Amino acid sequence: METPPPPDALSLASQYAISLTVDIVRAQVTGEQQVRYTNAEGVSLRDLYLRLFPNTPGYGGGMQVTSIRLNGEPVSPEVRLGGSALRLLLNPPLAPMETVTLNLTFTVTVPLTDEIDYAQFAYVRGVMALPEVYPLIPVYDDEGWNVEIAPEYGDAVYSDVAFYQVDVTAPPAMTLVTSGECWAPEAGRWSCQAGPVRDFALILGDDYQVARQVAEGAIVNSYFYSGHREGGEQALRMAVDAFTLYSRLFGPYPYEELDVVETPTRAGGIEYPTLVVISDRLYTGHPRLEWVVAHEVAHQWWYGVVGSDQVDEPWLDEALTQYTTLLYHEFFYGAETADEILKGDFQAAYDRLVDEGNDMPAGLPVAAYPRDLYSPVVYRKGALYFHALRQRVGDENFFAILRAYYRRHRYGIATPDSFLATVKAVTGSEHRDLYERWILGVSR
Ligand SMILES: [Zn+2]
Repeated sequence: METPPPPDALSLASQYAISLTVDIVRAQVTGEQQVRYTNAEGVSLRDLYLRLFPNTPGYGGGMQVTSIRLNGEPVSPEVRLGGSALRLLLNPPLAPMETVTLNLTFTVTVPLTDEIDYAQFAYVRGVMALPEVYPLIPVYDDEGWNVEIAPEYGDAVYSDVAFYQVDVTAPPAMTLVTSGECWAPEAGRWSCQAGPVRDFALILGDDYQVARQVAEGAIVNSYFYSGHREGGEQALRMAVDAFTLYSRLFGPYPYEELDVVETPTRAGGIEYPTLVVISDRLYTGHPRLEWVVAHEVAHQWWYGVVGSDQVDEPWLDEALTQYTTLLYHEFFYGAETADEILKGDFQAAYDRLVDEGNDMPAGLPVAAYPRDLYSPVVYRKGALYFHALRQRVGDENFFAILRAYYRRHRYGIATPDSFLATVKAVTGSEHRDLYERWILGVSR
């Protein structure tokens, strides 16, 4: 069902050229954007969507698109999903391989509180965290355009890889960290490039220090508050260990840098392309720091390079990332420690679900889960699928499956069927009974 992208697939990827001006005092961002979108879908498209993630409840900000032109002509989009989506009619329809150019201007207001869900989009404690601070084209697939408001307790963004040129103007005293790489032609101006990446994240902070180390030919940067040097250096060591291990187990990281950034997020951590944020609550000797760093770094492989539908099929990246985090503990702390986590955390969470009559399939959309069951079912029970598969096929096959999955779906979008196809390609069987037991099934 899923085939490797043809060699020229990346030449069809969207190209974003964005210019952002950040007003720290007003907590506002103004932007101009040009995006070239090529129809790579094999069918004519009658419409095109833009997502305005700051307007979703989980982000809690405000984004106003103040002008929009399609191939140079002003257009009036339909506003959808509480202002978090714009629908543009394409008349005539956009034929396969044809390109349109959108030009937009927009303004964004950033919440000054960490009270809105994970505070992933906020200006708090001197840190302005700006993921998806620009209108983003979502994925068109066999369901059509994937446009929905994801529950606040899951990841919101489902997007194809694209290329980004982003120019940022901000107060020169701030430190800027983004997806991709930046240079500063002058004080207070930065020029950044990223791609192929799924979206572009940007963090500004007034008190960052950085520790960095080369690993597997890439640079791993740890940005931390100046008072948190010990935590920041620990985070760097953990990130370098994780990065090195995953590169060797699954395949090389294709980018030049990985940034690990301390922020006020109320999630433990959140993954973005070539950048992960880690909660500042974990930098002062918190025992969860290592788990969260190892987990978020693993997302660079499962979500970043190998994409999947984070809203409708969250297990595909989250359960595999969770199992990868267990592999990190197995490698660095030994099989006994890994076994304790497997039994004491994953299996125990699953047993509790069964005992309390709360077991659910792990393969459902985020929205199908009550908030308190999302993590035990998708992250814990879901991870047990990968363990069962490993026990069935043996270590050599298991790691060959993950390497093949990474290679086949690099920069693409994987599905449960394409994971099973990879299992079959390596072992001769989908081992579908395990998938049905752990991902589709429930215990009664
Ligand atoms: Zn995760």
